[in-house]
Amino acid sequence: MTARQPASDLGRFAKLGIRSDADLLLHLPLRYEDETRVVPIDAVRAGETVQVGGEVVRAEVVGRPRKMLQVELDDGTGRIALRFLHYYPSQVAQLQPGRRVRAHGDVRGGLFGLEMVHPRYRLSGPAERLPQRLTPVYPTVAGIGQAELRRTILEALASADWPDTLRPGAAERLGLPPLMDSLRLLHQPPPDAPLSAFEDRSHPAWRRLVFEELLAQQLSLKRARAARARQRAVPLPDEAAPARLLATLPFALTGAQRRAWAEVSRDLLGGEPMNRLLQGDVGSGKTVIAALAAMQAIGSGRQAALMAPTEILAEQHYRKLGPWLAPLGVRLAWLAGSLTPSAKKKVRAAAAAGEVDLLVGTHALVEESVELPTLGLAIVDEQHRFGVAQRLALRAGRGDALPHQLMMSATPIPRTLAMTYYADLDVSVIDELPPGRTPIVTKLVSEGRRDEVVSRVRAAVAQGRQAYWVCPLIEESEALELQTAIDTHAALSVELEGLRVGLVHGRQPSGEKAATMDAFSRGEVDLLVSTTVIEVGVDVPNASLMVIEHAERFGLAQLHQLRGRVGRGTAESVCVLLYRPPLSANARERLRTMYETTDGFEIARRDLQLRGPGEFLGARQSGLSLLRFADLERDAELVEAARDEAAAMLAGPVGAVDAHLARWLAGREEFLKA
Ligand code: ADP
Ligand code: MG
Repeated sequence: MTARQPASDLGRFAKLGIRSDADLLLHLPLRYEDETRVVPIDAVRAGETVQVGGEVVRAEVVGRPRKMLQVELDDGTGRIALRFLHYYPSQVAQLQPGRRVRAHGDVRGGLFGLEMVHPRYRLSGPAERLPQRLTPVYPTVAGIGQAELRRTILEALASADWPDTLRPGAAERLGLPPLMDSLRLLHQPPPDAPLSAFEDRSHPAWRRLVFEELLAQQLSLKRARAARARQRAVPLPDEAAPARLLATLPFALTGAQRRAWAEVSRDLLGGEPMNRLLQGDVGSGKTVIAALAAMQAIGSGRQAALMAPTEILAEQHYRKLGPWLAPLGVRLAWLAGSLTPSAKKKVRAAAAAGEVDLLVGTHALVEESVELPTLGLAIVDEQHRFGVAQRLALRAGRGDALPHQLMMSATPIPRTLAMTYYADLDVSVIDELPPGRTPIVTKLVSEGRRDEVVSRVRAAVAQGRQAYWVCPLIEESEALELQTAIDTHAALSVELEGLRVGLVHGRQPSGEKAATMDAFSRGEVDLLVSTTVIEVGVDVPNASLMVIEHAERFGLAQLHQLRGRVGRGTAESVCVLLYRPPLSANARERLRTMYETTDGFEIARRDLQLRGPGEFLGARQSGLSLLRFADLERDAELVEAARDEAAAMLAGPVGAVDAHLARWLAGREEFLKA
């Protein structure tokens, strides 16, 4: 569909994401106002939202030091005041005695009778016809007025005739009304139903649009997936190499790990680029699957890369993988932003010369323009913490073949999300923890009993155990968060005299951080005080006590990750959530959830309920902005229907699919392809 608007107008509308007639039609109202009726002033009550009409009988600018415009309206049945705290000189000129005016707004009881503050108003003729439809109120931004937006949208609507893109009969089967009817109804509802009927997203017209939107998303994802299937990857055929690693491991894979590994290994054998998400709760043993995959790549004569979101985590991987892989002849290297320029240069040179088999690091892997000429496998740990661009950069093609990609995440993705945002991924799930773990007991302790918690730390250390102490998250200020950690470390060092108390935070030089982490791993530090840098990945089985200060400030996913740092050995583990009362309802719900369950999936489900999918996925999932109307919790059943319809449409004529995507996603599809 072509743009009917002069370019300059559309340019301004672009601020609203409106670039075409299709975008205009899909710019749906937030709510409605009823201007179809004028209420006699003597029937108006304070607290109502109404339209009144009458003649201006008095208009004056009053008040000091702040002036306001005060207008009095008379309709023969009574009088009402209109007050404007901000006004233009042109308004004073407009609203002169004798003029007829219709005003719409909230009525309140003022000092001298009923009044409306800043009503919407228009000058009217004596026998003017009232609107026959409810007045839509659209989302807008400064500089684009409702009247202009409404006029432009209604013009576009009047000339629009969108053929249905669904297969014949599909909408009826789903109980959804026709598309054009739904659009007309939502932009111009008839006045015979209460306003709220059309504001309710479960109205059939809304459901039709939600379905259309979800369908566009499914079509786009399925197309992206088909496009990937047409791309080539280098097959990685050496199954003997991972078998050699398995034979040297001190443990056997769990059943869930075996299944996941079989899926990954099979993908790697093929010439189609793997795009697989390995999902498993904290501590479920994803790293070993990554190591096996790396072995298959390296054995097949290719390089592998592993990227993790934080330096601590990347370093942990490096230290864990070294002892497993180096004895098998694998040449590992490590790259992070904190390395000296000359050290980075060395790593880059070795990687480019093919002298590195497995490169482990942070996003420095994609930012330091490292060349891995024979990259066959890119592994991304905690993938949800990376931006789309970074993930794409790591798997960018070398020559004409794409590397296989394995992503890992401990944040379980509820089914509806997996079906929408991750429809382009294959998913393997590790739904079993390695044996020998003892369940973690969670305790909620009010800040007033902090002393008892300190004694508990002492007792744990006396039994030969180690502990974590996580300092409060201070979202507003990283500097303050850092200072709090330093202060807490100082205070605990005094309170726990005789214990070896270490400190790690994100601003430490990496050498210092690594030295402390190492000492903690070797059991030479009893209590590790930290900011949330230890949130992911850290693995010290002898640590059996976790204290989280101001736990009420943390999100559920974060608390779950933090708690997962303990319970990794055979000792009974305890997680103490220290909180400061009073708790907000939401914080109470989060802490209750942590107390009630350690199941990552259940926690993710409640998290989704408490936060909604946008927050849940994080701002980095830019594909999110594509869903304007759908709500994945509320519309779960439509997600399934949209997926089925998308599959059927893709098997049919291509024209309908193209038309549908052009309407809904023109120019925005790239977000979905990561
Ligand atoms: P995550 O899935 O959170 O990344 P890790 O891969 O760090 O978990 O594994 C947690 C711990 O469990 C590590 O110490 C790892 O060596 C160990 N582990 C992994 N798989 C097994 C297994 N099958 N049996 C025993 N221990 C295992
Ligand atoms: Mg991990």
